[in-house]
Amino acid sequence: MQTRQITPLKRIPKQPTRPISSVHINVDALVQDLLLALKDVVACQSMIATNNNGRHTNKTNELELQKLRIAVNKVVSLHRRVKDRITGLDENLEEAGAKIDIDLKQLLNDCLRFPEVFPYVKNEQGLRKFFLCYCGEKESFDQHGLRLCSSCLEDTLECLKEKKKDKRFILYSTYSAEVRCRHADFKTLLVTFNKPGYWLPSWCQTCLIQEKQRLSK
Ligand SMILES: [Zn+2]
Ligand SMILES: [Zn+2]
Repeated sequence: MQTRQITPLKRIPKQPTRPISSVHINVDALVQDLLLALKDVVACQSMIATNNNGRHTNKTNELELQKLRIAVNKVVSLHRRVKDRITGLDENLEEAGAKIDIDLKQLLNDCLRFPEVFPYVKNEQGLRKFFLCYCGEKESFDQHGLRLCSSCLEDTLECLKEKKKDKRFILYSTYSAEVRCRHADFKTLLVTFNKPGYWLPSWCQTCLIQEKQRLSK
């Protein structure tokens, strides 16, 4: 019969040998919460942009603004709790922001200055994400018209007028009224962006000329 060796009980230390502790765990958790709160600001703004065709000012629904205020307040309060307890917060923000192409450092700074500053979600080039032209390289003039940047407005019009080959754009006419502008019939030439996988709005020459006239007023 085997006898079991009984290992003597060690003295249980009164204090944990490595006092890591709740302080560090909590700071890490707070940083994660701060990142999530910043992502909530992004989500609120995406909703405002979708529901209001990108207008963040006067006509923005009060309820949506209220949701944004709550998200920003959460960011401000988490930042207050975390800022003196961690070094390297900037690096955390940069790393998390790079994954989603959002400048989270800037967004945090703008949240801290809200409401004097509107916390626009900007990409790493400093462009407001929900104001980007379909080309993705510049902001559109404003959010009331075709939402094209100055270059794309000129280039789409030239492409259409000259029936020019340009790999950024597609020229077509269509029997499907659903994908034509209000000026067009089945013979009208339309222009849209060549973005595989996306069906973006298209415009006829009248759309583009009227947009130029609107912007020159
Ligand atoms: Zn553009
Ligand atoms: Zn049109």
